Amino acid sequence: MTNYKFDTIKVRGGYDSSQHNRSVAVPIYATAAYDFDSPDHFNRIRAGAEAGFLYTRIGNPTVAVLEQRVAQLDGGSAALGLASGMAAVSYSLLAATGGKGRILSTKQIYGGTFDLERDVFPELGIHFDLVSHDSGIEEWENAVREDTKAIFIESISNPGAKLLDIEALAELAHRHGIPLLVDNTFATPYLLRPLDHGADIVIYSATKGLNGHGNAIGGVIVEGKPFHWSTEKHPQFYKRHWVSRDLQDEERSFLEAFPDFPFIAFVRTKLLAYLGAALSPYDAQLILIGLETLSERVSKQVASTRKLIQYLKTRTDAVAWIQYPEVEESPYKELADRYFPKGAGTAFSFGFKGTEKQTAALLDAVKLFGYQANVGDAKSLIVNPPKITHGELRPAELKDAGVLLETIRLSLGLEDADDLIDDLNQAFAAAGFEK
Ligand SMILES: *Cc1c(COP(=O)(O)O)cnc(C)c1O
Repeated sequence: MTNYKFDTIKVRGGYDSSQHNRSVAVPIYATAAYDFDSPDHFNRIRAGAEAGFLYTRIGNPTVAVLEQRVAQLDGGSAALGLASGMAAVSYSLLAATGGKGRILSTKQIYGGTFDLERDVFPELGIHFDLVSHDSGIEEWENAVREDTKAIFIESISNPGAKLLDIEALAELAHRHGIPLLVDNTFATPYLLRPLDHGADIVIYSATKGLNGHGNAIGGVIVEGKPFHWSTEKHPQFYKRHWVSRDLQDEERSFLEAFPDFPFIAFVRTKLLAYLGAALSPYDAQLILIGLETLSERVSKQVASTRKLIQYLKTRTDAVAWIQYPEVEESPYKELADRYFPKGAGTAFSFGFKGTEKQTAALLDAVKLFGYQANVGDAKSLIVNPPKITHGELRPAELKDAGVLLETIRLSLGLEDADDLIDDLNQAFAAAGFEK
C-alpha cells in the first residue's frame, strides 16, 4: 500500500478485505478478548513473534486499520490509536521523558496541553521550558538544558496559526541527542507531513480534522524512522524490561525487541497497557470513515478560509487584524510558502474591534457558525479563545500565549463560503458594525 499516493491510502491503507470476510467497510471488532489456539500461540503473540491480538486495551483489529492507515499517510513506521488527543500528547511526553526530566516546548500551545504542562506533569516530576513561536533558533538553543529529553511543538499554533521552522528545530534537537515531537492536529497529514522534515514523532487529536465530523474523540501517535534512542538520556529504550521479553522469557529492551518502532511499542506495552486510554473500535471506525474524505474536506476548507479572509480584509471597520500565515503582513509567510503550499490550516483568528458587549452580540447573532470548542469539523465554528479554548489561562499567560482579549477564531467547515460570509455580515451588523 505504501507505494500508492496519499488519496489512495486514505481510503484503502492498512486494510485487506480478504482478511475480513470480504467486508468492504472496515468491520467494527466489538470484542474485549481473542481466542488463543494454545499457550504457545499466546506466547508468540505476546513476544511479537507472530501478528495477533491479546486484549482490546492493547490492540484491536479495527483500531489497527486506523493505525496502519495514519502511519502510511504520514510516512511513518508505526502508529498507535488512543482514546483522545490528550492521551496521545500525555503518553508521548511520558514516553519521551521516561517519567522524569524536562521538555522544551512553546507558549503557543493547545489550552489542554498547556494545563497539563503547568498543573499536572510538574507534580509528577516532568518540567517544561517554554519559548515563543517568535523566538529565534538561538533562544531555543539556549533553552536546552542538561536533562532536556525532547522538544515538543505544534506545527500550526492555536489560535494564532503561528508556524515554526521544523527542519531547523529537528536539526537542533538531534544535535542535542533529543527527539522532535510534533502535534500536527491542525495541519493533518494532508497539509503537512512532519516526518518528511526531520520530526521523529507525530501526534494527532483525531477528534479534529483527521476525522472531521465531530462525532468521536480519539488520538493517534505516529513514529518515523526510529530516533537514536540509545544515549544515556533515554534509558527507558535500552534498559531491558520484562514486558518486552522474548519467547524464552529473556528480558529485552524495546530497541532490541522492536527496532523498527521502539517508541510506539513502548507506549503500547508500558503506557497504554497500564494507564489504559484505549481507543474504542466504534470510534476508530467513525474516524476511518472521516479519513476517507480528508483531502477533499481540507482543500475545500482551505479555499473557504482564503475567501473569508478576503472578505474580512474589506471589513476594516470591525476587524483590527487577521492572523493567518498567508496574509501579506504575517511574519510566518515565508514558512507558510515553504511548509504549507496547500494552505496553512483551516482555522484562523482576527481581532474584533467591538467591546465585550459587542463581542457577545456577535457570538449571539451568528446562525451558521456554531459556538463550540472544536476545530476541523465539517460544520464551521466561531469562538472567543480567551474565554473558551484558553479559558484556564490566567491573564498574564494569555498575553504570553499571544492570545489577545479581542481574538475571535474561526474554523471553516464545508458550507458554501458565501453563506458563511453573509452570516458574518449580519452578525457584524447585529453587533453594531453596519456596512
Ligand atoms: C484538541 C486538541 C488536542 C486534544 O485532543 P482531544 O482529542 O480533545 O483530547 C491536542 N492538541 C491539539 C492541537 C488540539 O487541537
